[in-house]
Amino acid sequence: MKINPIHKASCHCGAVQFELSLPNGLDDPRRCDCSMCQRRGAIVASVTLDGIKIIKGEDKLSLYQFNTMMAKHYFCSVCGIYTHHQRRSNPTQYGFNVACLEGVNALKLKDIPTYDGVNHPSDNEESKL
Ligand SMILES: [Zn+2]
Repeated sequence: MKINPIHKASCHCGAVQFELSLPNGLDDPRRCDCSMCQRRGAIVASVTLDGIKIIKGEDKLSLYQFNTMMAKHYFCSVCGIYTHHQRRSNPTQYGFNVACLEGVNALKLKDIPTYDGVNHPSDNEESKL
């Protein structure tokens, strides 16, 4: 899929608006089966930390952390939509909600792989319990 290098994205209610720099298009689109993503159900793609610019509503973003508290999951505090998260397996990247991209129908994407987040590469046996 071809998308512009700079792409607008927003949560559902529009309180949070952000711009993504995606020079390589959708990088590594995926789902994940960890306890959180399973519930969230979003298709996620990767972007560098400086590849996301929050245009509006930074103060509306809520932060959620769990388990090792490494990853930072952000969502709109008004409408509850997940926007992006700082990854645990690669903290130099954000994952972002592909469905937040303007003009992209995430449900039309084909062959999205599901990552084995239950057996996260950063997890040892104890922290999985
Ligand atoms: Zn919102």
